[in-house]
Amino acid sequence: MLHRDGYRCRQCGYQGSPHAKPADVEADHIVNVADGGAEFDLANGQALCVPHHKRKSAAEAAKARTARSRLRPIRRHPGRIDPPSKGGGTPLPPGPNAH
Ligand SMILES: [Zn+2]
Repeated sequence: MLHRDGYRCRQCGYQGSPHAKPADVEADHIVNVADGGAEFDLANGQALCVPHHKRKSAAEAAKARTARSRLRPIRRHPGRIDPPSKGGGTPLPPGPNAH
């Protein structure tokens, strides 16, 4: 897939070289394999320069840590609890003459 992308970073367009030692453009999984990405699918691969590859890997590692620490169910809008209506305050539905 590096060859398909022409050894060009997908994020910054950095033009790497297939002969660089050490490699300056690396193969990256768009969807991390740990997240269910296809490991050998060319469609899930992209060329990234080394700095971008490192940054993406670090971000994925941080995201994985966050996901693991978020196993508790998330309460939605914990501060917004509608008080139960006690009757008497129900607005009348608009009648046929309401304008
Ligand atoms: Zn880059």
